[in-house]
Amino acid sequence: MVSGIDVKNGDEATIMTMHRARYRFRTWLRGLLPSALARLVPKGRRDCGAHEWYRAGRDVWRCYHCEPGITHVSPWTSEEQLQHTLGAISSTLRLFALRGGPGTEQDLVELRRMVGEALAALPEEERRLERLAAAPAAELPGIVNALRTA
Ligand SMILES: [Zn+2]
Repeated sequence: MVSGIDVKNGDEATIMTMHRARYRFRTWLRGLLPSALARLVPKGRRDCGAHEWYRAGRDVWRCYHCEPGITHVSPWTSEEQLQHTLGAISSTLRLFALRGGPGTEQDLVELRRMVGEALAALPEEERRLERLAAAPAAELPGIVNALRTA
């Protein structure tokens, strides 16, 4: 989408650069500021032109840079989905280690859900691994204990 830019007078590379740049400074600044001040530098109101997504909920993805950037269908390829899910699993396990273990049964349910998502996002030729879906869940207590003693 090229809203707000005079396409006729710019070459494509310039327009692409402008799109990538839109609202990026705000995003960068928000990342540096304490949360109370970050609210003074909100996301852009217009489409940034090149969304970069984060998952805001189970079925909600939002753009880091603009308010119109929201979708309820995953914008990621299955490989990106796998990378993001493995990243989330890694962060969750690190959090468990810091807290000395999962706080509640719900923490483990959420971790199992993410492992299931990671397995589902594996490339087609790797689908045979789906049969092992129960294995990571069964190994969770061991993983958490290993992290606790690390
Ligand atoms: Zn955006």
